[in-house]
Amino acid sequence: HAQPLYASLPGDIGISFEFFPPKTEKMAETLWDSVRTLEPLRPDFVSVTYGAGGSTRERTHAAVQRIVRETAIPAAAHLTCVDASREEVDAVARAYWDSGVRHIVALRGDASDPGGCYRPHPDGYANAAELIAGLLRIAPFEISVAAYPEKHPDSADERADLDNLKRKFDAGATRAITQFFFEPDCFFRFRDRAAAAGISREIVPGVMPVMSFASVQKMSGLCGTAIPAWMETLFDGLDARPAARQLVAATVAAELCRRLYAGDVRKFHFYTLNRAELSYAICHLLGRRPVGDTA
Ligand code: FAD
Repeated sequence: HAQPLYASLPGDIGISFEFFPPKTEKMAETLWDSVRTLEPLRPDFVSVTYGAGGSTRERTHAAVQRIVRETAIPAAAHLTCVDASREEVDAVARAYWDSGVRHIVALRGDASDPGGCYRPHPDGYANAAELIAGLLRIAPFEISVAAYPEKHPDSADERADLDNLKRKFDAGATRAITQFFFEPDCFFRFRDRAAAAGISREIVPGVMPVMSFASVQKMSGLCGTAIPAWMETLFDGLDARPAARQLVAATVAAELCRRLYAGDVRKFHFYTLNRAELSYAICHLLGRRPVGDTA
């Protein structure tokens, strides 16, 4: 007999959502609506990014605080080493711990001028591994770090990149969240390489639903993510048709997640760009239902 058109999944997954700190009242409202929409899906945690050069220090703090105060979702604050001394970074971390935040996404960050070469602050943490050691001297934070299935642009080769990830785990990270990617095999190959290098901690794929193909192209160029030729063809002409693009984007991201699920992935981290609906739809397709919903 023919396979059913759509085989439903049981939703036996862990999910997390990433947001960025809002700049305006209106953006804050959008963010908050999104948090409220996604909360009933019971994410393991949600995280709030940290802008280049600490430019969003207060806004990141405020957004994380609000999540801690007003929701039951564990909140993680991203923190980078850019343009800050160790004392300054430590003070931010202490303030998080004192206000109840127990999870930090620890990152090196990038040079403040886009595309510029990274230079550590003379009195700062040189990289994410050093930052992790510093954070753990302050308090027993849960720590997530970044991983790069297609290699970080600053790494000489894949080996050096994996050695760096290993250093971050050895320094005390609990899990790695990957840079976004578009081919499932890209993640599977990376997972295999990491296992072969002796890494046994969790590596969670970061899933980026396409909100605008033009901006995905720009971001991919900066972070070294390959855009497959089929994606260019698929999104061609859709930037001016947001509703159609959303449907296509949800289909592509859901297909990616279903293939990852078929390859035994059970944790997913969504780059929401502060919009709930795409991430919500993909979680729904993976079988995730809000608390209390018996449908
Ligand atoms: P690291 O792990 O420190 O590595 C950076 C590079 O330096 C690597 O190439 C590594 O091999 C090399 N390196 C490090 N240590 C050594 C050493 N001892 N010897 C030789 N080479 C070394 N950016 C933000 O600004 N704010 C955010 O909130 C943010 N959130 C992110 C979340 C996720 C899930 C991801 C994947 C990325 C995020 N980024 C964020 C981007 C990140 O800051 C950049 O990718 C940055 O360029 C690298 O940060 P890292 O923590 O991976 O650096």
